[in-house]
Amino acid sequence: RLYNQVQDLKGSIRVYCRVRPFLPRQTNYISSVDHIEEGTITIHTPAKHGKGRRSFNFNKVFGPSATQEEVFSDTQPLIRSVLDGYNVCIFAYGQTGSGKTYTMSGPKELTEQNQGVNYRALGDLFLLAEQRKDTFRYDVFVQMIEIYNEQVRDLLVTAGVNKRYPLFSSTLTTLEIRNNSQTGLNVPEASLVRVTSTYDVIELMNLGHKNRAVGATALNDRSSRSHSCLTVHVHGKDLTSGTILRGCMHLVDLAGSERVDKSEVTGDRLKEAQHINKSLSALGDVISSLAQKNAHVPYRNSKLTQLLQDSLGGQAKTLMFVHISPESDAIGETISTLKFAERVA
Ligand code: ADP
Ligand code: MG
Repeated sequence: RLYNQVQDLKGSIRVYCRVRPFLPRQTNYISSVDHIEEGTITIHTPAKHGKGRRSFNFNKVFGPSATQEEVFSDTQPLIRSVLDGYNVCIFAYGQTGSGKTYTMSGPKELTEQNQGVNYRALGDLFLLAEQRKDTFRYDVFVQMIEIYNEQVRDLLVTAGVNKRYPLFSSTLTTLEIRNNSQTGLNVPEASLVRVTSTYDVIELMNLGHKNRAVGATALNDRSSRSHSCLTVHVHGKDLTSGTILRGCMHLVDLAGSERVDKSEVTGDRLKEAQHINKSLSALGDVISSLAQKNAHVPYRNSKLTQLLQDSLGGQAKTLMFVHISPESDAIGETISTLKFAERVA
């Protein structure tokens, strides 16, 4: 595996696969997963795909019974590197309903046990910063944006003004992406909110989620058709030397990867699907060309890859969680998800 060769270097790409359990109401469902063994998942393939079994290899595979804590424990080392001044990207990829939001944020009813990567990562970040307080002074800032139909919007639009009592806004304007390696702020117009605790971040994420819903058309859940990105900027000052370290972490809940049938959707729905398709394949192209160490990395092909340019490749660390729904009905999407992931792994 490529990761084994590059893990000694500063930059790396890792791919973890996670299989959602059946939901409580899904009794007597048949699973498409045959078995899971460390980094390998074996699925049953139906006749259409050459009936039998097929295995895919990843850095890690989490089965349906994996807890949020287990999933996070393999993510934890990345958090430390943000405080050391590296850039980190964590993605959740998969079809709608496969558990992306569950991994990144958690279920609707959040408890300490079921909270996702975002909360745990921030919790760790503040804890580590506190442990280093005699040698470093850390300032932490958060931005939260959404990419919908190749347009970038600020999800914390009013938070900067009134952080304690955020109001949510119905006027989400389109913002520019500018690659600014000096400040590390690629969307300089998006609200940048200073946070000092995980509690602050929870408050902001709630605001972001409300703002995200504002543009939703009545019929469909907008969140499955846009990418959301929570970016944590960390400025660390070495108290002895005065050196400033800058690191950032992007936590990205991607739009659903499901293919839509062109014969069944038209108008806005088709346009959305085409934008999603384009940006997810641009992401796949970037990650796979980084994995293959190609000289040219096609960052410019989508807003998503432009936004994350300085956090993909180079010294940055990338972790992609690919999500699988267990139902045998979902096998078509499962196979295309695994193939996408295999290409970047
Ligand atoms: P997505 O964001 O990919 O559309 P969700 O995260 O919303 O999917 O998950 C779909 C449903 O499955 C939600 O009700 C969620 O709480 C549940 N779910 C997802 N993953 C898990 C898991 N690992 N354990 C328990 N429930 C899960
Ligand atoms: Mg979701």
